Amino acid sequence: MRMSDNEAPRKKRVFSGMQPSGEAHLGNYLGALRRWVDLQDEYDCIWCIVDDHAITSGSDPQEMAQHVFDLAVSFLAVGLDPERALIFVQSDVPEHTELAWLFNAVTPVGELERMTQYKDKAQRFESVPAGILNYPILQAADILVYKADAVPVGEDQRQHLELTREIARRFNAAYGETFPEPEALIGEAGRILGLDGEAKMSKSLGNTVGILAEPDEIWARVRTAVTDPQRVRRSDPGRPEVCNVYSLHRHFGDDALLDRIHRQCTTAEIGCVDCKRILADNITRAFAPFRERALHYRAHPREVRQVLEEGAARARALAGETIAEVRERMGLHWRRLFG
Ligand code: SF4
Repeated sequence: MRMSDNEAPRKKRVFSGMQPSGEAHLGNYLGALRRWVDLQDEYDCIWCIVDDHAITSGSDPQEMAQHVFDLAVSFLAVGLDPERALIFVQSDVPEHTELAWLFNAVTPVGELERMTQYKDKAQRFESVPAGILNYPILQAADILVYKADAVPVGEDQRQHLELTREIARRFNAAYGETFPEPEALIGEAGRILGLDGEAKMSKSLGNTVGILAEPDEIWARVRTAVTDPQRVRRSDPGRPEVCNVYSLHRHFGDDALLDRIHRQCTTAEIGCVDCKRILADNITRAFAPFRERALHYRAHPREVRQVLEEGAARARALAGETIAEVRERMGLHWRRLFG
């Protein structure tokens, strides 16, 4: 990637990360990845596989390497482009965790405890690991170690980004102007409901389908999608406005298709199975180029490794500059005494 950090004026810089839980799924794609691909035209982009975050979610050490590889393949398959963006694994750039530790000095526990995600996650533990509480500090470090100008966020990450801005403000006030306050890049697709029509799409809930899945698997998963609960018989008119299958059609069909399905659903001209078949076919078509590119990367794992290693080297160079500045400002420079 040719970052424009030495050019003036430099492009604005964007950072975002995704936890490695294997191949990306439909929710990852609709909620983030397709946007990331577009952002590469306009910004200096930094795309990170955040494995240090994943360990707070109880990730399996035996599976982590494979999950990182599968997500990296997904990144490359959808069009994240190492020629235009940095793509790397978080734990390859220990400056993230170092900055997170340093940010502990300016982050009140009360701010962390009021995070909605913390409150939700903490309920699942009898004894809450500190990592669950400190997670947003590491997120702040991920972003600020690159002095990112903007972050593409979904609704559920807005509070954490606000905390990142607060940490930047507090650090700047305590140690001198160092960090920008990154802006939220709006325009994410918002909360993508899973095929169960209830919870956010998530691999752990089994309510989604992988973006690299074979056509048969896509159909098998889409076939299970929950539709309008009031449409019990084939002859019952449906209500597209409350049907999650119809919401998903919006991402894969044009206006003419949406109009047709709307009309045929409300007049019971089309059954839900046929409607889902159309959706599955459109998803299959849209994801076909991803499957093809993924085949290449799976057959050439060294190319993937090279992308991640080169990305990490460039990322460390950028992050190292910030860490040196932060250490200086915080007085972590004892060698000075020795001339
Ligand atoms: Fe939903 Fe389609 Fe069934 Fe209508 S026909 S309820 S839009 S799945």
